Amino acid sequence: MQIRVLDCHGGELLDLKTTCVQVGERLLIDAGALVSNLTIDQQVEIDDIVVSHSHFDHIKDLAMMADVVAGRRRRPVTIHGSPRTIEAIRKFFFNDRLWPDFTRIPSRKNPTFALKVFRPGHAFEVAGLSVLPVPVAHPVESMGFIVKGRSGAFAMSGDTGPTTRFWKELNRTENLRFAMVELSFPDEQIEVAKISGHMTPRRLGAELRKLERRDIPVFLYHFKPAFARALRAQLHRVGRAEIYPLSPGDTFTF
Ligand SMILES: [Zn+2]
Ligand SMILES: [Zn+2]
Repeated sequence: MQIRVLDCHGGELLDLKTTCVQVGERLLIDAGALVSNLTIDQQVEIDDIVVSHSHFDHIKDLAMMADVVAGRRRRPVTIHGSPRTIEAIRKFFFNDRLWPDFTRIPSRKNPTFALKVFRPGHAFEVAGLSVLPVPVAHPVESMGFIVKGRSGAFAMSGDTGPTTRFWKELNRTENLRFAMVELSFPDEQIEVAKISGHMTPRRLGAELRKLERRDIPVFLYHFKPAFARALRAQLHRVGRAEIYPLSPGDTFTF
C-alpha cells in the first residue's frame, strides 16, 4: 500500500492547506488540499473519495475538482460518507445554490459525482482495500478510519475530541503500521477545543493512554494554521515517545 499526504492542516494559510490523503493512485481520504496538489490527469484518475465528515475543510475541494473532471471520465467519482455527511453534501453543498448539482452534471446518466452512504461501524470495500469507519466525537457525525490491505493497515482519527471506540479498534487491529491522529489547538485554547470537538496536547496525552499499542508511531495532523507553531512547541506535553507532526508530502509504503 502506498499512502501520500497531500496536506494535513485544519485550515488554510499561505502554504498550509487542509487535509487530503491519497492511497494508491485512485483513492482519496478527505477532500481538502486536492486541486492544489493533483494535476488534471491525476484528478481524472481518482475513482473514490472517502470523507470523514461534512465540515468544509474536509469537503471543500470537491467543488473545485468537479469543475476539473466534469465530462472527462467514463463513470462518476464515488464520494463515500456516513448518512448525515452525505445528506449534508446533498442538501447544503451540491444544491444548485452554493454549487451546481454535480450529481446531475454533465448528465443524470453519467454525472461527475455519485454519493454513496456507508454504515458507521461496518467495513466496506473500496479500491481493493477494506475501510472501517469508526464513529468519533465531534459536533457533527464524524468518522475515524482503519484502512486495511493485504500488506497491513493504517488508521486516521478524523476530527475528534475524547473518544473510546476508535482506540479499541486500533488495539485489536492486526498488522497496524501507524496512526494519524488529530491535534488542532494548543492547551491555552482548551475551551475552544472542548466546544469544537478537538484535541490539545494535554488532552491528546490523556487520550493516547487508551492506545495500548506501543509498537506504532503516531503522526499528528489537523493543526489549525494560526497555532501551527505553538503546537510544535507543545508536542512534548503529549508525553508519548513515538509521536511526530505529519507533513505535506509525507509518504508511507508497506
Ligand atoms: Zn477539520
Ligand atoms: Zn470538523
